Amino acid sequence: MPVPAFSDNYIWVADDGAKAMVVDPGEAAPVVGYLSANGLALGAIVITHYHGDHVGGIAGLLEAVAQGKIRAGARPVPVCGPAAENIAGLTQRLRQGDTVELTWLGEPLHVMEVPGHTSGHIAYYQPGDAQTPPRLFCGDTLFAAGCGRLFGGTPEQMFRSLGSFAELPKQTQVCCAHEYTLSNLRFALELEPGNADLLNWNRAAQALRDKGMPTLPTTIGQERLTNPFLRCTLPEASPGLAASASRHAGRARSRPVEILATLREWKNTFR
Ligand code: ZN
Ligand code: FE
Repeated sequence: MPVPAFSDNYIWVADDGAKAMVVDPGEAAPVVGYLSANGLALGAIVITHYHGDHVGGIAGLLEAVAQGKIRAGARPVPVCGPAAENIAGLTQRLRQGDTVELTWLGEPLHVMEVPGHTSGHIAYYQPGDAQTPPRLFCGDTLFAAGCGRLFGGTPEQMFRSLGSFAELPKQTQVCCAHEYTLSNLRFALELEPGNADLLNWNRAAQALRDKGMPTLPTTIGQERLTNPFLRCTLPEASPGLAASASRHAGRARSRPVEILATLREWKNTFR
């Protein structure tokens, strides 16, 4: 479940009906409200990167447990995050290939180092089982039809990170940390105006937002068809994007990493 926070953040909560894992709690209050309303204990906090809108609520959540406002699913409550970033309160510092074992939540979470938005950013991939499809908690690396800004990582890193997401199973539910879909789709349509999947997704996303509903989770399959940044990593999609990138740059952009770098810079000023 995406719990809305601030103006456009989502704090993802995954639970087994009794205990909840909370991903990137930028603020505590909406999470405390959600857990109380649904009778859930705080089982674990997992963090993708150090930005305030992803970590700002850690202390408040632990305080709410200490004050008895919410129950603890474990003592102490595990707080997992990237080893390569400086985040106060982590109990587990994670690197590529590590796993987070939350037996009550099913399959272990697999840690992927996905630098780009920040240089130490990690994502959590949980393979599916009989009841649930695979899930990806990707923080600010991948958004529906977009990707994070490069604050500290390089285009090469973002390219490799998105490439590793593209290889995940197509039915993977992608839990992004912001509702940026409509503005991302506007940019994506500028690049690939004839992409029928984009046009369909744009209509569907607009209808969801008109009803005040989240456009997320998206899926890896959907992103492979519509996300210009992820599509830079796919040999079949990059020639079409190269034309748009070259037009914008005023010179030939043909290497996939150059295309991604050009599109990322363009998006920063696109209105
Ligand atoms: Zn961020
Ligand atoms: Fe963020």
